[in-house]
Amino acid sequence: MHPTIYLDYASTTPVDPAVAKVMMDCLTLDGNFANPASRSHRPGWMAEEAVDIARHQIADAVNADAREIIFTSGATESNNLAIKGAVDAIAQENKHIITVATEHKAIIDVFEYLTTKGVEVTYLKPAKDGLVSVSQLEEAIRPHTVLVSIMHVNNETGVIQDIERLGAVCRDHNILFHCDAAQSTGKCDIDLSTMPVDLMSFSAHKTYGPKGIGALFIRRKPKVQIIAQMHGGAHERGFRSGTLPTHQIVGMGKAFEIAAQERLHEQARIGQLRDTLWESVRHLPDIRLNGHASRRVANTLNISFGQLDSQQLMPALMPLAVSSGSACTSATMTPSHVLTAMGVDQVHAHSAIRISLGRFSTNEEVDFAANHIVDVVSKLTAL
Ligand SMILES: *Cc1c(COP(=O)(O)O)cnc(C)c1O
Repeated sequence: MHPTIYLDYASTTPVDPAVAKVMMDCLTLDGNFANPASRSHRPGWMAEEAVDIARHQIADAVNADAREIIFTSGATESNNLAIKGAVDAIAQENKHIITVATEHKAIIDVFEYLTTKGVEVTYLKPAKDGLVSVSQLEEAIRPHTVLVSIMHVNNETGVIQDIERLGAVCRDHNILFHCDAAQSTGKCDIDLSTMPVDLMSFSAHKTYGPKGIGALFIRRKPKVQIIAQMHGGAHERGFRSGTLPTHQIVGMGKAFEIAAQERLHEQARIGQLRDTLWESVRHLPDIRLNGHASRRVANTLNISFGQLDSQQLMPALMPLAVSSGSACTSATMTPSHVLTAMGVDQVHAHSAIRISLGRFSTNEEVDFAANHIVDVVSKLTAL
């Protein structure tokens, strides 16, 4: 039995050893374990300093001001805080908000919840390649539209939305623009000094940091109003209460620092591996790539295998840790809402597999994976 080859980096990434090291230094009595909110002693000041350094590492990675970075438990919480917090802060009676049908559940479910609170919602349907256009967004805007939320990189297809142009439309109409960037850090250039984004969600564990920590960027100029969703202690300038987890925060800081340093080199290497993999399998019968062929990140391949059901494919692919549909919906048999919204038919949605490479993927692993996929698919189609 071949050891498992991890090809599911879009679901989560292993912690980088350099990240694990700085985290370990913030746990035990001989380390930086104190409460960063403790003002009365030196251990507290040291923990506060470590948090401050991490906040700057994260801000620097996305060219923001450190005061614009609020720590949360991950992108799910950041999305909740951004959207509910912004909608709560807007006093007007009728509110309309816009998102895209291919968003992560951590956006879709927040929007669904807000419809029960009387907020009107529009879900834009992307083109077959996964992209939403500027004109589509413009047409959906109404006089009472208060917020638009569009993800940077899609977690299932890797498709990159044109955040600059979509955000510019929101600016023109004086509408708040939120962007879920959980999948784009370390893969795309993010420059919040020029990007027309008011709120941006981040997660550490998609970028070689630990699970359970993330951040929300809240723009200061022009200042974005947000109502806190978590009360008690007024940490994070009142936006998000709760004792700061120093070990998680320094881990995220280090992970984002590494991501900024390695991004160009790493994405070029991963892109080559991904292309090699695609070249080896693309000749299989009835195979197709889901999502735009070039406007996507370097690590992701979302492939439909014609008539082969992913329930049939997955066990046969066994030594390869890949994902069928979205990782978050793989427990159920319903096809991916992302592919369905892109107009992929039921057969091809049911046969879709997401392969996502990362920092620790090797040539040998990709060669093995390519051969194995060709073997398995040839055998199954011959049946
Ligand atoms: C993983 C992911 C999330 C959720 O992030 P957590 O930090 O696990 O809460 C949200 N949005 C996208 C696009 C993701 O890929």
